[in-house]
Amino acid sequence: MAYITINKEHFYHNLNTLSKKVGTIKQIAIVLKDNAYGHGLEIIAKLAHDFGIQHAVVKNSDEARRIERLFDSVLILNDTPVSHDTFTFAINSLEALQRVTPHAPIELKIDTGMHRNGIALEEVEEAIEIIQANNLHLVGVMTHYKNSDELSSELFWQYKNFQKALDFIKINYSKPFRIHSQNSCATLRNHHFNEDLVRIGIAAYGYNELSSIFEAPKLKPVMSLYASRIASYTLPKGSRVGYGGEGFLEHSQRVSTYDIGYGNGWLRATKNMPLSNDLAIVGRVSMDFVSINSDEKEVCLMHDAQRVAHYCNTISYEITTRLDEKIERKVI
Ligand SMILES: *Cc1c(COP(=O)(O)O)cnc(C)c1O
Repeated sequence: MAYITINKEHFYHNLNTLSKKVGTIKQIAIVLKDNAYGHGLEIIAKLAHDFGIQHAVVKNSDEARRIERLFDSVLILNDTPVSHDTFTFAINSLEALQRVTPHAPIELKIDTGMHRNGIALEEVEEAIEIIQANNLHLVGVMTHYKNSDELSSELFWQYKNFQKALDFIKINYSKPFRIHSQNSCATLRNHHFNEDLVRIGIAAYGYNELSSIFEAPKLKPVMSLYASRIASYTLPKGSRVGYGGEGFLEHSQRVSTYDIGYGNGWLRATKNMPLSNDLAIVGRVSMDFVSINSDEKEVCLMHDAQRVAHYCNTISYEITTRLDEKIERKVI
């Protein structure tokens, strides 16, 4: 059966590198949304907890409940706020803010320029009025950057907008709240850190998605993917393998079928992709199978999702996140 290994040493190397950058492990929130970017929610949450990470970020309350006992705080990016000791809820619009009940711990997301979610700068005043009028429990103010991976002035412009919003809130709202804005790329490129938390996703999993213009510490991919042999063939030169016969053999060779395909989240765009110096995918990927010029009982399809992503013209996030939750994950 196909399986995924999670390399604990690599994960801890990445967390260590990031905590040096931030100055302390205590201010790192590990982003665990979408099954921990496909790595396995409970597995990564446990490893992060054992390393000393105290804060997590997830997509919804379902994910949050599965890991809540491991962290001091769990930020839920998109779900209905309720009263809770460890959960906090990002508020993505004024409309959502109006529906919040008192006592539910909320973190106000400010739209500083990405225009995906959050309160617009012009709406911040109204938001604070609603919070005060309805006696809501504001525990954080946050934003998200759209260009932190690229060399451009956009990050600084967004940062300035965030400061403007924060200045206004600090003057008009007297109680303390936590402040956070940085994802992996912003954290890797920033030299000054003066907020309460960073929200680290992809870098913890071992990928530096920063443009190569920036100098960044070396990270190590945490996930590897293996598949098992189902059938083998010795085929003559000129044979065509798989759907459409797109796996053309330049010479006679052994080709085997392995038990993973796009139905398990392995991208069909990996057609004919080289796997190593002498291994390659032969032809098209099927729903549950893939052909490889190998005779081995087991092959490694991936040690580095970024390499696969470049071949498929996408980003490492998509490669790892797509892998089916039902594939077994083993910590090594
Ligand atoms: C996904 C996400 C992150 C993590 O981003 P990375 O680039 O993986 O570090 C941080 N903050 C928010 C709001 C997110 O949605």
